[in-house]
Amino acid sequence: MADKKNYYDILGVSKTATADEIKSSYRKLVKQYHPDLHPNDEKAAEKFKEINEAHETLSDDKKRKEYDFSLEHPNMNFGGGGFSGDFSGFSDIFSDFFGGFGGGSRRTQRQTKIKGDDITIEVELSFLDAAKGCKRDVTYNRKTTCNTCRGTGAKNGTEYETCSKCGGTGEIQYTTRSGFFTQVSVKPCDECRGTGKKIKEVCPDCKGKGTVKNVTTVTFDIPAGADTGSYMRKQGYGEASPNGGPNGDLIVVFTVRSSKIFRRKQFDLYVDLPITYKTAVLGGKVEIPLIDGTYTHVIPEGTQSGKVFYVRGKGIKTSRGVGDLYIIVQVEVPTKLSKEQKKNLEKFDDNIDDKQYSKIREYTDNFESAYGKKPY
Ligand SMILES: [Zn+2]
Ligand SMILES: [Zn+2]
Repeated sequence: MADKKNYYDILGVSKTATADEIKSSYRKLVKQYHPDLHPNDEKAAEKFKEINEAHETLSDDKKRKEYDFSLEHPNMNFGGGGFSGDFSGFSDIFSDFFGGFGGGSRRTQRQTKIKGDDITIEVELSFLDAAKGCKRDVTYNRKTTCNTCRGTGAKNGTEYETCSKCGGTGEIQYTTRSGFFTQVSVKPCDECRGTGKKIKEVCPDCKGKGTVKNVTTVTFDIPAGADTGSYMRKQGYGEASPNGGPNGDLIVVFTVRSSKIFRRKQFDLYVDLPITYKTAVLGGKVEIPLIDGTYTHVIPEGTQSGKVFYVRGKGIKTSRGVGDLYIIVQVEVPTKLSKEQKKNLEKFDDNIDDKQYSKIREYTDNFESAYGKKPY
């Protein structure tokens, strides 16, 4: 990954570029390096290839996210492994809901067997459950195939006859004309809903629909690292097909509640750590929160406000990689001091040498040389 060319550099855009900026930069470059303009120029041809490769990734929201992720975690292994079990890996749980599955279940145009509808359920996770991974039962209503009539909708599953409109094929051919062209297409028969059968006597259990309402519970084994918008798909756990086609899928979309202790970016964790003035000056030990437990961190003497301690590998641990922990120090200034406290503080500060305030000294020098007077 290290020697891989950066797609953003290739397209000459920033990492935060919008889709429009990427598109317009791509168009400019394509015009510039098009092979038609540079016949027999291998370098231009190579560049043209690069530009297209970069555009292909950055113009696709999902691919771009994965690419960004790989940039931020250059040492991560992206090949193989991944999550096992109920979902199809990285692209599912780690991509955004809307980027992930457009189109839906009815894309099977020419097929007369209709796939059942997908069912989407939102599941809320606590910050720690999402970070650690958890098991979650999801209970929901769905239509399943009626057992009594085996989905035919006919009494005992036998009380039907061949559909006269489609002759039992379940399909109807129709032609459309545009200009000189005639196109023959096929669609499901509307008379028998593509089943090819006409019910004589309806099944009493499902009233001829072929499906019944059912309460279903599915257990999801949610891997560590789920974030708001990530989702898992359980194939075949959606609605039953109306005509013997495959079931739809169940899709759970996660919402992760925020934490009062952690902030999170991908798998990295951020903790704002307030410390006293005394600890900042003298140093000290402090317990740092982790996803599972705590650890003792030593604050060194003379720690400044805003200092960030970086702890490698103490972020969210997933099978796709491990995040890091960032501890951001904030020195809290005490308020509402008593007269005596104020007096003591002044006495203390009077004894501090100018040389002990390196930043203040540097600022004072710069200020003075620019404005001819002291800032303090
Ligand atoms: Zn028919
Ligand atoms: Zn039935």
